[in-house]
Amino acid sequence: MSIKSITCTFEEYTSVEALAASDRLLVEAAVSAMQSAYAPYSQFQVGAALLLDDGTIVSGSNQENAAYPSGLCAERVAFFAAGSQHPDKRMLAVAITTSYPLPQPISPCGACRQVMAEYELKQGASIRIILASNGGSVMIVEQARDLLPMYFSGEWLRK
Ligand SMILES: [Zn+2]
Repeated sequence: MSIKSITCTFEEYTSVEALAASDRLLVEAAVSAMQSAYAPYSQFQVGAALLLDDGTIVSGSNQENAAYPSGLCAERVAFFAAGSQHPDKRMLAVAITTSYPLPQPISPCGACRQVMAEYELKQGASIRIILASNGGSVMIVEQARDLLPMYFSGEWLRK
């Protein structure tokens, strides 16, 4: 028997203002995206802004439904929109934020981490994840896979 560990490395910034200009713009796009959230049940608005390699920003916001499982997170709204509308463009970075006053930056759910990890596999390149809070600190992870160790890769299923 052996004991092993997995670590997650990330950058931490005190505020959005401390980010590089390009990252700050992406967070601002996520804040704008949040305005279209449909969250009548949770009141928890989330915005995501996904930057593609030609400069296009595909945004998403959470979309809830009275049949709760039918709703979708902001991250997956953005990733699936980009995957379907821009299938040949590489995804470079995504900023995610919420208006909800959390004590730390918002963090994607497991299902969204799984989706982001597979898009990294599909394109053979990392996607930077910028996690912003409402007026507080920001965390940046260099690749989605760092957020979901031992994710389901399904490589043997793809042809
Ligand atoms: Zn999610």
